[in-house]
Amino acid sequence: MAIQSWPKEWLVLVEYAPYAVTLIGGFVSVWLNRIQPFLILLSVLVLNVMFWYFAPAQEVSISLSILFPIVSLLLPLNLLLWIYLPEKGVHNQLYNLSIAVLFLIQAGCVYWFMTELPLQWIEWISISIAPNLTFYHLPFASSLAFVMVGFLLSIKLGMSKQLRIFNHAMVFILLLMAFALNQYQHTGTLAWVSSIVGLIIILTLVFDSHHIAYTDELTGLKGRRALNESFMGLGKRYAIAMIDIDHFKQFNDRYGHDVGDTVLKMVASVLETVSGGKVYRFGGEEFTIVFAGKTVEMVEGELERLRVDVANQAIYLNDEKANKTSKKAKAKPVNVTISLGLAEPDKTHTTAEQVLKFADEGLYKAKAAGRNKLIRVGAKPAKSSKPKKTAKSS
Ligand code: GH3
Ligand code: MG
Ligand code: MG
Repeated sequence: MAIQSWPKEWLVLVEYAPYAVTLIGGFVSVWLNRIQPFLILLSVLVLNVMFWYFAPAQEVSISLSILFPIVSLLLPLNLLLWIYLPEKGVHNQLYNLSIAVLFLIQAGCVYWFMTELPLQWIEWISISIAPNLTFYHLPFASSLAFVMVGFLLSIKLGMSKQLRIFNHAMVFILLLMAFALNQYQHTGTLAWVSSIVGLIIILTLVFDSHHIAYTDELTGLKGRRALNESFMGLGKRYAIAMIDIDHFKQFNDRYGHDVGDTVLKMVASVLETVSGGKVYRFGGEEFTIVFAGKTVEMVEGELERLRVDVANQAIYLNDEKANKTSKKAKAKPVNVTISLGLAEPDKTHTTAEQVLKFADEGLYKAKAAGRNKLIRVGAKPAKSSKPKKTAKSS
């Protein structure tokens, strides 16, 4: 059913929906200290207000035929600007002021266009791509802007690692807005598409915050919160491994905190290759692997492989302490090792939290037994693996 023929009450809802959704979205953006989504919502809102103010009737008026080419050119350029400007949060006053100035300049431009009617310019931005096409209304300048912005957004997508959901959604939002502007003559289309855009932005804010809250920034692994949640879905059979990097403090002191971070990433990337389990950063230089539906016998071999793989990864570093004494800086290969404790539920350890603590006991035993070892605790007598020889760092 075409929107025009909807009952009047529904039409009012459609008309007001974008304002309600963008207001809520704006509130959520400010709450989460994100200026980019806020500005996108604001641009969409302003677009709706302009159409409502300058061209409320559905017939093709002169003001609409001037407003349409200018806003359909400005919108994609605005979206591009808000995405390419760095995310600085909502509390940076100088930044906010510059953005307010940018909005005012644009408002001035639109006002000047609508009052002074610079005919040559209007003609230029109104040039049609295909005058005979009844389904395509976007002028050439606007179409070019949409294509160019889509291209630049895709480039940004390839580059940025963080907030990917938001950037992906932006490409979709760009397409939606091009569609809405193209259909501007159809009652309600701009309003309902704008509402959907607002909802999409709210959803990306939720997804991105969820991602930030659950993911450890340094290693990209899931963090403690995700680990605790994973316990809820565990059945009766599972195994938990606690893993700790050996002599990491010494390593940090010797090579510096940045190198320490590199090592953490390296260890995380090796642990991530685990099959049958999920890795979490427990905190500091400690990791946890949860094997759902597996017994300790089933995963021991895989954990052994991880232990050996970490120990065999050579990292090439400049030794800061050594370089202070001799001027020749030489990159020398060093290795780090990990110790592991492994446990599964038994009569005395029934909850996942208890099994994790039990695995931690295994880890301490592995440390006490000389490190670079996997110790399994539980019903069977604890047995240790024989560490394979690796080049040690010190
Ligand atoms: P052990 O073999 O007994 O585990 O000795 P250790 O030195 O690894 O253990 P300890 O708990 O004494 O030290 C852990 C060190 O890990 C302390 C801290 O400097 C370092 N660390 C914790 N989190 C990070 C981090 O995010 N980055 C870096 N670079 N270091 C970290
Ligand atoms: Mg530790
Ligand atoms: Mg340690």
